[in-house]
Amino acid sequence: MKNKILSVKNLKKCFHDKKTEIKALEDISFDIYDKEFVSIVGPSGCGKSTILSILSGLEKQSDGEFKFSKDVTIGYMLQDDSLFFWRTILENCLIGLEITGKLNEESKNYVIQLLQTYGLGDFMNKYPSSLSGGMRQRVALIRTLAIKPDILLLDEAMSALDYQSRLAISDDIYKIIKNEGKTAIMVTHDIAEAISMSDRVIVISKRPGTVKSIYDIELSNKSTPINNRKCKEFSLYYDKIWRDLDVHI
Ligand code: ADP
Ligand code: MG
Repeated sequence: MKNKILSVKNLKKCFHDKKTEIKALEDISFDIYDKEFVSIVGPSGCGKSTILSILSGLEKQSDGEFKFSKDVTIGYMLQDDSLFFWRTILENCLIGLEITGKLNEESKNYVIQLLQTYGLGDFMNKYPSSLSGGMRQRVALIRTLAIKPDILLLDEAMSALDYQSRLAISDDIYKIIKNEGKTAIMVTHDIAEAISMSDRVIVISKRPGTVKSIYDIELSNKSTPINNRKCKEFSLYYDKIWRDLDVHI
């Protein structure tokens, strides 16, 4: 039996300035279940980031509602790793715990253990400038995990990286999230990234965003994101989503 962790119903969002109104989201409804990895794909400007901003409480919806099934801690990871260059990797990862007053011996050891488990143990006392873009994104993920979030929101988290690093870090991020048993909602404009990483893909129409379709991604030999791209069903999902997005070139 799947446990529902989040229910989103008929979300709407309009942005106003002095003269104009921008309708960003028209009607967004979906459910998220415990330990699911769900991607939200859609063209640039369709309101993907706005959905995550609303879920995290940074923006207020204009209409509609969303409800978490329990009191959840949310971890938010953005495209820009925004690591502080003057802090070591460990100090960067401890920042959320410091801000929330939860830094103690036990929570610090948890972060050290995460860094060690995910190949960053030797870099703990180094500075971000000595790391590759992919490693920095891994640090950003561990910084997010440090506060023990129940649900992770990832906004185009790999977009700033070159293609090769992006594939590798997608594998890393996927493995870490699954290993740690987290629920994740990732927004991306990259259809292949969404299919290869997700249990479900929610397709959003161009602005004002509505839910166009939702796909359960069922691949024979489902394994890691890189390998998932080789599954025979992969291109079928790709074609369907491409068509749903109705891209005009
Ligand atoms: P996406 O992440 O899918 O590219 P966004 O959620 O960032 O799209 O934005 C959706 C639409 O809402 C865009 O047209 C954008 O310009 C507009 N928008 C987003 N944030 C604001 C804001 N704070 N004020 C005004 N307009 C905004
Ligand atoms: Mg965005």
